[in-house]
Amino acid sequence: MPYDVVVIGSGPGGYVCAIRAAQLGLKTAIVEKWSTFGGTCLNVGCIPSKALLHASELFDEAGHGFAEFGILVGKPKLDLAMMMKHKADTVAANVNGVAFLLKKNKVDAHIGTGRILAPGRVEVTAADGKVSELQTKSIVIASGSVVAPLRDGKGDVIEVDETIIVSSTGALDIAKVPAKMIVVGAGVIGMELGSVWRRLGAEVTVVEFLDRTLAGLDLDVAKQFQRLMEKQGIVFHLSSKVTGIAKTKSGAKVTVEPVAGGEAQTLSADVVLIATGRIPYTEGLGLDALGIALDQRKRIVVDAHYATNVAGIYAIGDVIAGPMLAHKAEDEGVACAENLAGKAGHVNYDVIPNVVYTFPEVASVGRTEEELKAAGIAYNIGKFPFTANGRARANRTTEGFVKVLADQSTDEVLGVHIFGAGAGDMIHEAAVLMEFRGSAEDLARTCHAHPTMSEAVKEAALAVGKRAIHI
Ligand code: FAD
Repeated sequence: MPYDVVVIGSGPGGYVCAIRAAQLGLKTAIVEKWSTFGGTCLNVGCIPSKALLHASELFDEAGHGFAEFGILVGKPKLDLAMMMKHKADTVAANVNGVAFLLKKNKVDAHIGTGRILAPGRVEVTAADGKVSELQTKSIVIASGSVVAPLRDGKGDVIEVDETIIVSSTGALDIAKVPAKMIVVGAGVIGMELGSVWRRLGAEVTVVEFLDRTLAGLDLDVAKQFQRLMEKQGIVFHLSSKVTGIAKTKSGAKVTVEPVAGGEAQTLSADVVLIATGRIPYTEGLGLDALGIALDQRKRIVVDAHYATNVAGIYAIGDVIAGPMLAHKAEDEGVACAENLAGKAGHVNYDVIPNVVYTFPEVASVGRTEEELKAAGIAYNIGKFPFTANGRARANRTTEGFVKVLADQSTDEVLGVHIFGAGAGDMIHEAAVLMEFRGSAEDLARTCHAHPTMSEAVKEAALAVGKRAIHI
């Protein structure tokens, strides 16, 4: 029997799209080439990395933070295998949860590689080679992204063996804490996974092409972030490029050159993590033959309804433009399914939070100061440090600050940037406020429970009008 929708890929974009489509009464199937659902995010991305970030944070705190609270536990011992089991159990619970949700919503799941033969026709090749065909009114491509290859000075791709030269996937599965680790790229994934191994005992050096960390995030935040990461023992080589990685008997030698030119230096490491970004994944989908348009970065081009240039074929998530984030993919999945069911699905791209799950966390929503300057928008700034927050003192988490950027003439909040413990949870009051196009005054007048870290958000909003109370 033909389907209304066939979704290719079961990451956060695909599985959420399939569930929403089924909720709206559309007969829905999902095709996934891996043996488990949940895509990059649940299998080798967000979820396993957060399991290791949390566990390694506790390990680090037990070793360095407990004594100041009067808790003496001695030097903690690492059971890496147990930590990895915690990660594996977390992944299993989540991927099985998606399988359950698909079943509950009566989405037909087909394990195999999907290829679009024509609009309305998807071929599925199972692992054992068995081929079947699904007929459908609409096809949604949610095939996600993969690790971007790194090229050496000669332009050759540096081979990733996932043991010595690892991608994020290998970095989630290292059997023994490396004595020395080099991370190529000071973006979110490099900083999160670099933090994990630093806390577990590795000497971590980060090599970054740009002259700053966390490209795209507010520079003020990135500067303080780098200082704190340095305090935690991470060494940075900024404005530097890796021009070669040679494997040795026990590790690798990494050649690093200043971007501006100058003498190269060689750094040695037991493990090198390549974290220079991700690229859209469309291999084997048959897009060329269908004439589906891609942009210059090989992302599928879609309109405001996620429709490609070929009628009946849609695309969402990491495979289209926009931030490569799970929640962005999920929201697009919902919007796309709602559009297919004749509703008015929509994503507000101005209000997509972004979190870096280091300690402390970085969280932001809306525009950075640099973006407002470039757009010529006049703004007021309100800033409040956690050193002046009572709960932060009680918790010994006084590092960082909240920064609110509001339109100078209307007071509408245009961006909020938080660097501090729990920032990833605190950011959402700013997201809700901005979704309703609220002002700094609205935020400042909202009663915040005491004593909470979130009071710093209110104080930063008060500071926009130069009337913060506690500083
Ligand atoms: P994906 O999750 O990549 O899923 C695509 C799926 O499609 C895969 O399962 C793939 O097997 C399948 N597929 C591809 N082609 C075919 C085919 N032809 N047939 C059948 N199946 C196919 N984002 C956050 O928001 N927060 C985080 O904390 C976070 N942490 C991350 C940490 C790491 C280490 C990594 C690598 C990524 C992280 N991300 C995070 C990014 C997040 O994982 C992605 O943005 C998100 O998974 C994209 O969802 P998607 O549905 O577009 O694609």
